[in-house]
Amino acid sequence: MEKNIIKEHIYDVIIVGGGPAGYTAALYAVRAGLDTVVLEKLSAGGQMAMTTQIDNYPGFENGVDGFDLGEKMQLGAERFGAKTELVEVNSYGLSGEIKKVSTSEGEFLGKTVIIATGAKPRELEVHKEKELVGRGVNYCAACDGMAYKGKTVAVIGGGNSAVGDALILSRIAKKVIIVHRRDSLRATKVYNDILNNTSNIEFMWNSQVSELIAEDKLKAIKLKDTHTGEEVLLEVDGIFVSVGRKPETENLDSIVNLDKAGYIVAGEDTKTNVKGVFAAGDVRTKALRQIITAAADGAIAAHYAEEYLVEGK
Ligand code: NAP
Repeated sequence: MEKNIIKEHIYDVIIVGGGPAGYTAALYAVRAGLDTVVLEKLSAGGQMAMTTQIDNYPGFENGVDGFDLGEKMQLGAERFGAKTELVEVNSYGLSGEIKKVSTSEGEFLGKTVIIATGAKPRELEVHKEKELVGRGVNYCAACDGMAYKGKTVAVIGGGNSAVGDALILSRIAKKVIIVHRRDSLRATKVYNDILNNTSNIEFMWNSQVSELIAEDKLKAIKLKDTHTGEEVLLEVDGIFVSVGRKPETENLDSIVNLDKAGYIVAGEDTKTNVKGVFAAGDVRTKALRQIITAAADGAIAAHYAEEYLVEGK
């Protein structure tokens, strides 16, 4: 007898992750009559729960608090019978017909698995960064940019996301300073002309953030020249850290195909290389990682999970 099995129960669908992708998948799965459980380690909402004001998810004329929206998504799915288990997933066994998900509370068995574990922003890892989140330190220009209307902000990073964030912020803030640790951008060259023609964007090259200066909120950042080591002080009202994202796929290596950055390789149909296993939301290879695209993925994943259960493909 196998040890550590929570229940001998075999679910139709195990969903890992209780963000917008996970709970939308749960809503669609239960409404299709599938026996569904969501495994979530903390509370509903995922990354969205960290944002107080969400203005780019339709249906809320005054915006919505991300934590509240996460809870509403959970309740909406539970209303039709989805279950939630607060557990941490340790490992997966996905190759057989009955999939196994090992967690802090034992093993769950299911005929299909939808992985919706998301991706979190990489941090700068400078002192006080965590405590200043929401008080000058931000990770999402589309979510939090409006708080900096007419102010001065720095975007840290030199990739496509950093440039995208800088362009969003240039339409809101008075001045945007891109702080990059090298002397040229990693971002696609097509952005060069656009950036050069945006009068309120400036650059600080070869610069690493070495210190965050704050009282109750961020006032300035100290930048260290990566060649000379010299430090300068830059007064800003806020910074947007855009140094890449980290998909939550540490325990999926060699279980499903991941790309170089660690995202699960899956197309718009959310199908992974493993039959009966789907990837929805930010954890999947995709062009636009937003709440609405995560929710859309959740619906699609549930649809194909149902098709797999009925037709075995
Ligand atoms: P990215 O391309 O990996 O760029 C991360 C940037 O942050 C790089 O410039 C990197 O510097 C810098 N960085 C990393 N760690 C740092 C640290 N500790 N301190 C300071 N700077 C640091 O990440 P991304 O911009 O989030 O994009 C992720 C992927 O999505 C990419 O493949 C990107 O092309 C794609 N994407 C595409 C679009 C689009 O096509 N419109 C939009 C957004 C994202 P170095 O350059 O020195 O390494």
